Amino acid sequence: MDHKNYKLDTKLIHAGVSPDPTTGAIMTPIYQTSTYVQAGPGDHKGYEYARTQNPTRTVLQNALAAIENGKYGLCFGSGMAATDAVLRLLMPGDEVIVSNDLYGGTYRIMTKVFAHYGIKFHFIGMQDAHNITRHINAQTKMVWIETPTNPLLNVIDIAASAAISKKHNLILVCDNTFASPYLQNPLDLGADIVLHSATKYLGGHSDVVHGALIMNDAGLEERLRFVQNSCGAVPGPHDCWLVLRGIKTLHVRMQRHCENGEAVARYLHAHPKVDKVYWVGFEHHPNHDIAKKQMRGFGGMISFTLKDDNMDAAVAVLKKTQLFALAESLGGVESLIGHPATMTHGSIPREQRIANGLSDSLIRLSVGIEDINDLIEDLEQAIG
Ligand SMILES: *Cc1c(COP(=O)(O)O)cnc(C)c1O
Repeated sequence: MDHKNYKLDTKLIHAGVSPDPTTGAIMTPIYQTSTYVQAGPGDHKGYEYARTQNPTRTVLQNALAAIENGKYGLCFGSGMAATDAVLRLLMPGDEVIVSNDLYGGTYRIMTKVFAHYGIKFHFIGMQDAHNITRHINAQTKMVWIETPTNPLLNVIDIAASAAISKKHNLILVCDNTFASPYLQNPLDLGADIVLHSATKYLGGHSDVVHGALIMNDAGLEERLRFVQNSCGAVPGPHDCWLVLRGIKTLHVRMQRHCENGEAVARYLHAHPKVDKVYWVGFEHHPNHDIAKKQMRGFGGMISFTLKDDNMDAAVAVLKKTQLFALAESLGGVESLIGHPATMTHGSIPREQRIANGLSDSLIRLSVGIEDINDLIEDLEQAIG
């Protein structure tokens, strides 16, 4: 079936998936096998060994490619394994320009793992994408953006970053975890590689850790598929199946995440004890115009600070919520509350964290798809 002409909501359910040829099973089977029998040496059906290929994974890879409007998808055992694979495209001496407000684990693998192999990372503010140009030199090979950013919900202009990257022959990587393919498709805006922690909105039920890369360029796909197989950070078939199942409801979940997110953001904005609220959908968000241009909705991720701006006041709120569970991660059906300074972003040195605007009292919400009145009531009793 050619899925190119279907709309996203149809592709989420059907893309890549066809009835199982042996039984007609409508849902993709979990091919729980490590190897495949060959009729004679090299005489096989495209499957030799399950690190290299697995039919459940193939279906998911094709589905992910289709929903990001890309040609190729590659799956990994986690979002970080996908990040690791992309960074393995680099050689000692290469330089990367990275947005300075990003997932803590991404910052950690760059500064604590790949920096040791002689790769240099420049972490810069990208609210104005043209800032990228000032850091390009002869060694620059890659630009790495995350938008909206975690946890400050900054927005980076993907099309402008892509134009700069193209002009200087740099690979543009876009971490699209926060927006999900429902809200934003970076390949359409000129990015070379889209990265997902499928652990979050794609899986959507907080029951699987998984990562993905999607791209259009055959050469890049070949290099990354080589890394996927050579380094071996592949997901098991059951995890692939969970993500495949999760993405079938991405559109209905995201609609509710967006509705609930907006209601919570506006409630917090009007709250006398709340200081700043970070949410992409506010008309007064510094890059709201870019968000409107490149996103189809504003999602359920919100961060805020309290007027009583200290760690203890924030911790008191974190301990009091009942529905909002205190936990790392995001993008599941249930609402979560977190403290970036000590949790997701604990690996970023304090001075740098504060300099980037991530204060000690910042609270991050992943607004789930529960009843909005229950969610607001929970925040009301917790904030007081
Ligand atoms: C969680 C996350 C990652 C890492 O993904 P894992 O699946 O936890 O390895 C990368 N980027 C962003 C934006 C994330 O939220």
